[in-house]
Amino acid sequence: MATVRNINGTSDRKPDEFDSWKDFWESRTGKSFDNCSCIGCSNKAEIGGHVQKESANSRDFWYITPLCQNCNHKTEPFSVVDYNLERINPYD
Ligand SMILES: [Zn+2]
Repeated sequence: MATVRNINGTSDRKPDEFDSWKDFWESRTGKSFDNCSCIGCSNKAEIGGHVQKESANSRDFWYITPLCQNCNHKTEPFSVVDYNLERINPYD
């Protein structure tokens, strides 16, 4: 389990070589989207959200994780299953 927060200002970012962050995440992990990664949320995952570990600063790694729209708009830190965190470089 990891405590993360949503990263603001990432909605214009697109992955290289993929149509969506969902496609990116599924290709990288070899898994399919299922439930939202937020612990305690039972919604289906809808998008690959950009998150950062709560303890990290903005120059550390970012992660893509499956989230529902509701969790993608959380402004408070929340807990996710850490095996669903796929690391990306903020400068990619
Ligand atoms: Zn959710």
